[in-house]
Amino acid sequence: MADVSLRGIRKSYGNLEVVHGVDLDIKSGEFVVFVGPSGCGKSTLLRMIAGLEPISGGEISIDGKLVNDVPSPQRGIAMVFQSYALYPHMSVYENMAFGLKLAKTPKPEVDQRVREAARILQIEDYLDRMPKALSGGQRQRVAIGRAIVRDPKVFLFDEPLSNLDASLRAQTRIEIAKLHDTLDATMIYVTHDQVEAMTLADRIVVLNAGTIEQVGSPLELYTHPVNTFVAGFIASQRMKFLAVTPQGDNLLLPGNRLLASSHPKRALAHTIGIRPEHLHLATPEQADLSGTLSVIEQFGEYALAYVELPTGELVTIKLDGAPQLKLHDTINIGLPAQGVHLFDEAGRALR
Ligand code: ADP
Repeated sequence: MADVSLRGIRKSYGNLEVVHGVDLDIKSGEFVVFVGPSGCGKSTLLRMIAGLEPISGGEISIDGKLVNDVPSPQRGIAMVFQSYALYPHMSVYENMAFGLKLAKTPKPEVDQRVREAARILQIEDYLDRMPKALSGGQRQRVAIGRAIVRDPKVFLFDEPLSNLDASLRAQTRIEIAKLHDTLDATMIYVTHDQVEAMTLADRIVVLNAGTIEQVGSPLELYTHPVNTFVAGFIASQRMKFLAVTPQGDNLLLPGNRLLASSHPKRALAHTIGIRPEHLHLATPEQADLSGTLSVIEQFGEYALAYVELPTGELVTIKLDGAPQLKLHDTINIGLPAQGVHLFDEAGRALR
C-alpha cells in the first residue's frame, strides 16, 4: 500500500502537449478511476505513473519517494493490461511465477505466492492449463494474478475489462471490487466506461483533453457535477441539457412554459440539466414539457421513453415497470422540484 502524488504532470509528443499539468493526490489504499472520452490522456497518465512513458514536466511520487527517474520495475507497481499480455507458451502457473523467478525469489516462496493468488482469484484448478485453453475472463484473472504475486504497492489497471463480453465484464468488475477489499491495495484504474467508474471507484477523476475537470466520489459527481462536461459524462443514462431564459423567479423552458426556480443564481442560468430518472409523467395542466413519443425501450423493470419536443429536441424519461404508452402519443413531462441542474453560459454549474 502506498500513496501516489502527481504534481504539475505534463506530457508532450513532439510539439504537441497532450497532458497539461495534472495535480492529484491518491491516498494509500484508495481505488481511483480515471475516466474520460477517448484521447483525453487517461492511458498516458497511467503509463507515466507506471514508468512506461517519460514525463515532460512535473513530479511523480510513490510512497513519498520521487520516482521521476526510477525505472518501472523498481517503482513497486504492477500493471494489468486490456490485452492480458500472457506468455502463450507458458502454463498459468508459469505465467504467474515468471516475474518472481526473474527477480530470483526462492522457489518455495514463489510457489506459496502463486498458490495464494490462485486461491484469491479462484483459478487453482487451471494452474496447469495453457492460456489458449482459457476463456477471456479466466485469462484476465491470470493477468491479475500475475500482478498480485508481485505484492505491489500500487496496482495499475488499463481498461482491463474491455475485451470481455457484457456479462463477464459485470462479473469481473465485482471480482475486482472484492479484490480491492481483500488486498486493501492502492488501485488506479483507467476506463472509458462510466459504469465501471461509478461502481468501482472511491474517487473518480474525470479527464477531458489532458486536464482534470473534476475529482470526487461517484455520488458527488452524480449529484454535484461542476460543469456540463462532467454532468453529461457521469451516469448510465445521459443528462439532457435544455436552453432556458431566466424571467424573474422563473425559467422559460422550450415550449414556452415557465419553471419556478428558487435558485439564488437563477438569473445567470443559461442551460438546465435533467436526468431521465428524475422526470415523471404529468397531467397536461401540470406539465413542464410536452412532446410526442418517438421511441420506447422496454427493459421489464423499467422503460426509457424518448419524447420529441416541438423544438425537435429529444428528452428521455426513465419510467418504472412497463408503462403502456403508444408511439406518437403526446407525452406530458413534469420536472422535479429538486434535481434540476443549472449551468451558466460557460457551462459551469451554478451553486
Ligand atoms: P486515452 O487513454 O484517454 O484514450 P491516450 O492517453 O492514449 O488517451 O492519448 C492522449 C493523447 O495523446 C491522444 O491525443 C493521443 O493521440 C496522443 N498520443 C498518445 N500516444 C502517443 C504517441 N506515442 N505519439 C503521439 N501522440 C500520442
